Amino acid sequence: MSLQLQSQVSLKPFNSFGVDVRAQLFAEAHSDADVREALAYATAHDLPLLVIGGGSNLLLTADIPALVLRMASRGIRLIDDGDRVVIEAEAGEPWHPFVQHTLAQGFSGLENLSLIPGTVGAAPMQNIGAYGVEIKDVFAGLTALDRETGELRDFSLEECNFAYRDSLFKQQPGRWLILRVRFKLDRVAHLHLEYGPVRQRLTEQGIEQPTPTDVSRAICSIRSEKLPDPAVLGNAGSFFKNPLVSAALVEQIKAQHPDLVAYAQPDGQMKLAAGWLIERAGWKGFREADAGVHKLQALVLVNYGAATGLQLLDLAQRIQKDIAERFNVELEMEPNRY
Ligand code: FAD
Ligand code: NAP
Repeated sequence: MSLQLQSQVSLKPFNSFGVDVRAQLFAEAHSDADVREALAYATAHDLPLLVIGGGSNLLLTADIPALVLRMASRGIRLIDDGDRVVIEAEAGEPWHPFVQHTLAQGFSGLENLSLIPGTVGAAPMQNIGAYGVEIKDVFAGLTALDRETGELRDFSLEECNFAYRDSLFKQQPGRWLILRVRFKLDRVAHLHLEYGPVRQRLTEQGIEQPTPTDVSRAICSIRSEKLPDPAVLGNAGSFFKNPLVSAALVEQIKAQHPDLVAYAQPDGQMKLAAGWLIERAGWKGFREADAGVHKLQALVLVNYGAATGLQLLDLAQRIQKDIAERFNVELEMEPNRY
């Protein structure tokens, strides 16, 4: 048995909120064989199995009566070297260093997704996105283990049901264990600069003809200014998804709040900036005990040290209720709750 099982392990170092709960059992998977061993152990001992990566999209509200398996498999390989390259990475590869690796090889496509915490294997779960790019835009396939049958399955782009912060894997929780993911990248860059302050930041830096690495650096600098570093202040990034609402509701809210921020979607819906709604409702910088709303970014809930998952959840629910009452908008939580 190569799997090292530990009992009653604090998950504080393994979730970016820094919430202190315990896993009944804990192990790290470095290979497919470890994953299969963990599944077999959990089945034999009638224990649930919870797979985690970097723990940057989790809200842990109680001790976890399960075998928590942290994906730690490593490996990056080029599997198609044509005009567009296909590069495959193991689930446990840390996301941002993987992005940096692709840029160092001269491959473009992932630069807008720089500095997102977490692992490669979790990236398809919510189709991670930032600055106008989502992984569905560069996705070439993935291999997952079907926990119901024990069989491996390759998924194409169409089969993943990717949508805004959503995928088949999120819709079928606990069924698919993602082992490795493939990305289709370009040798000739097609940059996306029109989102938020990206182009402006490059201009301020005197860069008129940016390379993908320039874009990555600009995005890293913007993110570092606005977002709390989980190593310093516990958080899970955006706590709520940006809500998609009807144009009619946008008009209703605008009657009271003419400066409402709303973005038209291709299907006719409008996307509201949840952070704007929360800030306008007065929650920015709010703190109660050690649970709070970040001072610079109202979409980010923070743990000042000893907040429990339940305290963070309670704060989130109060914000949801207030936003529903003020604006008639339902906010959906983004982190996965256990
Ligand atoms: P975890 O939090 O460990 O797990 C997330 C979910 O995926 C859980 O349900 C877990 O069970 C499941 N899971 C994990 N690995 C696997 C696997 N191999 N197979 C099957 N299921 C698995 N997200 C964005 O989309 N865009 C951003 O710009 C962004 N910025 C962020 C900034 C900060 C400061 C923080 C803290 C978070 C941010 N996030 C962002 C959220 C988060 O980083 C991403 O969702 C990331 O992909 C989560 O990866 P993880 O490895 O930490 O997953
Ligand atoms: P921002 O630039 O202040 O913009 C606020 C919101 O407006 C964003 O959430 C974004 O929606 C939307 N937006 C901005 N420009 C847009 C455009 N041209 N077209 C359509 N929508 C637009 O946002 P931020 O908080 O600093 O984050 C920057 C990027 O990183 C965003 O893409 C955000 O999603 C991503 N991010 C995600 C997380 C997470 O945990 N999920 C955490 C931090 C940052 P979208 O969110 O839909 O892009």
